[in-house]
Amino acid sequence: MNDFQAGRPLVLRGGTVLPMDGRRVLPDTDVLVTGDTIAAVGPGLEAPEGAAEIDASGGIVMPGMIDTHRHMWQTALRGYGADWTLTQYFVWFYLEYGKLFRPEDVHAGNTLAAIEAIDAGVTTVVDWSHGLRTPDHADAAADALRSVPGRYVLAYGNIQQPPAEWATAPEFRDFVRRRITGDGMLGFQMAFDVLGDPSFPEQPAFEVARDLGVTVTTHAGVWGATGDDGIRLMYEHGFMAPGTIYVHAASLSADSYHRIAATGGSVSVSTESEQSAGQGYPPTWAIRSHGIPVSLSMDTSVWWSGDLFSAMRATLGADRSREHLEAHAKSETVTHCALRADQVVDWATRGGAAAIGRDDLGTVAPGQKADLVLIKNDGSPVSFPLLNPFGHVAFQAQRGDVHTVLVNGRVVKHEHRLVGIDLAAARAGAERTIDHLKGEMGEEAWEKGMNPDIPTTKVLDNPYTYTDYRSDSTHRL
Ligand SMILES: [Zn+2]
Repeated sequence: MNDFQAGRPLVLRGGTVLPMDGRRVLPDTDVLVTGDTIAAVGPGLEAPEGAAEIDASGGIVMPGMIDTHRHMWQTALRGYGADWTLTQYFVWFYLEYGKLFRPEDVHAGNTLAAIEAIDAGVTTVVDWSHGLRTPDHADAAADALRSVPGRYVLAYGNIQQPPAEWATAPEFRDFVRRRITGDGMLGFQMAFDVLGDPSFPEQPAFEVARDLGVTVTTHAGVWGATGDDGIRLMYEHGFMAPGTIYVHAASLSADSYHRIAATGGSVSVSTESEQSAGQGYPPTWAIRSHGIPVSLSMDTSVWWSGDLFSAMRATLGADRSREHLEAHAKSETVTHCALRADQVVDWATRGGAAAIGRDDLGTVAPGQKADLVLIKNDGSPVSFPLLNPFGHVAFQAQRGDVHTVLVNGRVVKHEHRLVGIDLAAARAGAERTIDHLKGEMGEEAWEKGMNPDIPTTKVLDNPYTYTDYRSDSTHRL
């Protein structure tokens, strides 16, 4: 029944291959996969006896995309916050209703998000999992990620407790020991934010990360919540380590960008999020000039769908838009685009791989892990003519054009249909979460949450309650 049994070699025939080693395009090229690895890339490859074949002609073969920041646990609330600001998101999740999420709700969100990712050709997702209130929540998150055949990095966090508390709890170490096995399909990071309090209450969490040899990912440069003070404190205490991922990195000064560049960090840009929620103007136009490595992310399906076609398109648009605006303000005209389509495709693939320290992902070359996407849709008028493959991926293609997806050599989507995925079970799980939340909140609060106004008594910016620290840049004094 299954043409793609484990261990059977597979060849993608005659596609336009984007190897992601610069702007090179390989027309009419085959990609041979054996086991979990890309064995060969070239024209007219001889396939081993019994190899499965997929006709990639007319399509684009590229590396699986990598999302470096997605709050997967929130996915059952798909579209609920379409009209929210960041403040409304903070009030809803951090102060009011995030506590209602049970382990099974984290499981439901993660499962749906994981399926959504592979369907869109996003083969690796960093699950920025800051709803892990108990070890049971954390186990549920890991169980869900293990149940869907994508590649993940669990970035462990808990917005309901100070980082210094959850990160130093014995249960946390126990979880890492039990669940993180280093098998390449489930990586690990620690996820928490730095508020700028001069007493640096996040220090113990950084020490745990250093002790475990774990990367820290942090929302840095979020208007009203985290800014230059947090970056400076991390720097002064020696915790801006190579590999650290700074999410958003908007609303920061050049000084902070210098510190990120100098210490070997990278920035995860969530352009759609920054545009709608208000962390700051999507920063690629600024951080490009500092030579800071970039990856892309989509943040949360509470607003946006979990695909990186949208992220690439939005990022290219926002970057160019800013350059035009800056020029017009000086009565000048931009005559050449600085940011090219191939650059955002690079950020969505190789950039993500570099950010998470996986040089075996993000490119199409012999010896690389076989995480591959075939974009091909013979029934679509948008599939031809295929003149500019990078431009096609960034500005023309979308989720529905994802024909085939491989993760670690395994076919998880073929001919536009998910393979071996129980979507009905994922739907039922999401529905149980919605029933639970509606039941606990009450119908009126549920409806109001979707169509919010903000009570004046609420905290309107930095929602963290573990410190009384306030400054001009976070709270109006
Ligand atoms: Zn986020």
